Amino acid sequence: MHSFHYQNNQLACESVRLQDLAESYGTPLYVYSSHTVTDHFRRLDRALGELAHEICYAVKANSNLAVLRLLAAQGSGFDIVSGGELYRVMQAGGDPGKCTFAGVGKTQDEIAYALHSGIYSFNVESESELRTIDNVARTMDRKAPVALRINPDVDPHTHHYISTGKSENKFGISIDRIMEAYDLAASLPGLEIRGLQMHIGSQITEAEPFAQAVAKVLPLAEALKRRFPLEFISIGGGIGIVYRGSLESGDAVWWHEGEARHALTIEQYVQAIAPPLRRLNLRVLLEPGRFLVGNAGVLLTRVLYIKRALEKTFVIVDAGMNDLIRPALYDGYHEIVPVCRQPGAGTEVVDVVGPVCESGDFFAQSREVAQVAEGDLLALMSAGAYGFSMASTYNSRPLPAEVLVSGAEHRLIRRRQNYADLIAAELEAEEVEA
Ligand SMILES: *Cc1c(COP(=O)(O)O)cnc(C)c1O
Repeated sequence: MHSFHYQNNQLACESVRLQDLAESYGTPLYVYSSHTVTDHFRRLDRALGELAHEICYAVKANSNLAVLRLLAAQGSGFDIVSGGELYRVMQAGGDPGKCTFAGVGKTQDEIAYALHSGIYSFNVESESELRTIDNVARTMDRKAPVALRINPDVDPHTHHYISTGKSENKFGISIDRIMEAYDLAASLPGLEIRGLQMHIGSQITEAEPFAQAVAKVLPLAEALKRRFPLEFISIGGGIGIVYRGSLESGDAVWWHEGEARHALTIEQYVQAIAPPLRRLNLRVLLEPGRFLVGNAGVLLTRVLYIKRALEKTFVIVDAGMNDLIRPALYDGYHEIVPVCRQPGAGTEVVDVVGPVCESGDFFAQSREVAQVAEGDLLALMSAGAYGFSMASTYNSRPLPAEVLVSGAEHRLIRRRQNYADLIAAELEAEEVEA
């Protein structure tokens, strides 16, 4: 469920009209519903029930401090992929002792920073990384808690850019080499084996790949448990969300290639993973990103021009691929709806495009959307995950502002960048100011 609804043909986030926010803060503007974030966290937490578990929110999905603070207040841990994300978590009051550090390319500085901060576990992706963490830990006279990331070689049936658990992906260590890697870890005096980890991909919309992956690593987890004082198994994130038809149908139905099928519910997900994990009797870590924040956000944009070309009609909006790159990068689909609905208005097949000088700068191609006029406001739905966190200033476009809504209240949680922000880190600018 999410908290975006029409009230008298006006799209609202919880009880706040999006038109009012666009008028106060300008566009493009990200708006998030705090209720949706906390509701999704609690639903997952509740569905896991008695299973000993810890939800470690994947910070990269949306790393605004206010979002991190919301989740920290729910008791969430955090899955981080860089020193910068750890810094954000701690600035937001998150507990580093509930942080897991993932990623194939951790630098020595990042490792030292994480170790110094007291993170819960390094999720290690290669033998070389084990040696580096061991070295850093020994220079600091510490023991680094580690888990190894297993690549279970299952197909998550998702876009190839966000599949991570197949043998051809750069992530993790294959099952046939993992025991050797654990032996190496056990032999290094700066390391302390704490768990095992996997993450098979993102935007996974069926329970089956999760069940397969758990079934595949279970015997290994049992074997490891007999040899090492294992505390946890992390099964990663990847729970898919509804992008198509989410506004009309709540979260009940997936629209996929014109063919309706049921969404992956949180209960189905838990049903697929929990029974075997319960028998394993380890603490279970989950690392959802998109599931917690994806449907909690929209990107508001204003129509600048309507351009009727020979073959197509282009709706040119003031948000671009620098603000939301998912369509260009992953063929990501975002529903596009008017912020103020005109009763009885028709539809039109159009391309919705941004102002950036790239042909990949589009939000929809040949899509039937409600008829719009220049000056109208549109909402790109389900933009809470991998939206702002992937935004850039390409074309020297200042980063958009972000607003967090809670009931009838709202708060600016990131101001819009200005032109001075764009050049602030450039040395020539510093010299000019000095
Ligand atoms: C990106 C990532 C996640 C989160 O993925 P979602 O699809 O957003 O749930 C979890 N764990 C790891 C290791 C990741 O890299």
